[in-house]
Amino acid sequence: MSIVSSFGSRAAFWAAPRFCLLCGLPVDPGEVPDLPLCPDCAAGLRPIEGPRCSICGKALISEFDTCFACRAGKRVCTHIFPIFDYRGEISALIRAYKEGHRPSLAPFWAGLMEKELRSRWPGWVLAPVPPRPEKLAMHIWDQVEAIASCLERRGIEVIRPLKRAPSSQQKLLSRQDRSLNALKSYSLSPQAPEPLPDRIVLIDDVYTTGATIEACAKALLAGGVTQVSALVLAAD
Ligand SMILES: [Zn+2]
Ligand SMILES: [Zn+2]
Repeated sequence: MSIVSSFGSRAAFWAAPRFCLLCGLPVDPGEVPDLPLCPDCAAGLRPIEGPRCSICGKALISEFDTCFACRAGKRVCTHIFPIFDYRGEISALIRAYKEGHRPSLAPFWAGLMEKELRSRWPGWVLAPVPPRPEKLAMHIWDQVEAIASCLERRGIEVIRPLKRAPSSQQKLLSRQDRSLNALKSYSLSPQAPEPLPDRIVLIDDVYTTGATIEACAKALLAGGVTQVSALVLAAD
């Protein structure tokens, strides 16, 4: 089933006439509520189906229960749930959201996450992965916080217990350097609530090596949290 048909029919948040964000074709606003996409592109937004790694949630191609990366290294965050594989229409839509600065897509992502949060982690408290401080200082829009704020308005309990040190950009580093860099980069913020809740679900947009989620989870566990899971839009 396509993700859009399962999403319900909330009132469209945009008005006619519009063009598909991905292919540029004109779109009838009645066709795909909630998203500026043509029906063909919307049909390409398919969540991961079939076997998943029991730890990182990535789609599995082997008969093992866990993927190679999770078998190779022990993780403290042992339940990560990516909704999509980061490819095709979904990677284009996430890039349009982040790099194309389209905050109007935040309610769509929040709707997908809300469904998973309410069914998989009822009663857990949500914490967004914090942005680089440079981003805050320069007033650059924070795409993960935008989703967290939407979820908060929909009644999910959200806290912001983490801060990130200024550092080199994760995506420019090697896999090993990413883990070391991430560990140094995330820590509890002075504004973190005391005590911290027992169970926290981290949210982020794209999960790649897992270094960021792992570093955030370690900081939370060291601060007294007993269980940390993560919900991400897509796994790369
Ligand atoms: Zn299209
Ligand atoms: Zn895995």
